Amino acid sequence: MCSVCMHSPCLVGCPNDVGDPVYECELCGDDIVEGDEYYEFDGCYYHEDCFKDNAFDILLDSGAEKGTAGDY
Ligand SMILES: [Zn+2]
Ligand SMILES: [Zn+2]
Repeated sequence: MCSVCMHSPCLVGCPNDVGDPVYECELCGDDIVEGDEYYEFDGCYYHEDCFKDNAFDILLDSGAEKGTAGDY
């Protein structure tokens, strides 16, 4: 039984009331559950926060390149 709302399954609105997993986050490996905001990129799914924190790495992994202009 949930220690917050004292119900099992949780009442709607309980902080422990997580929805059903829908996708798995490519970065942290945790479930992306119903109601979560997520990003899809290149066939992978990410939590909103994970994606924002790692957007540059994700882009670089997917073929984006960083260079120094004029450095030939
Ligand atoms: Zn609860
Ligand atoms: Zn994540």
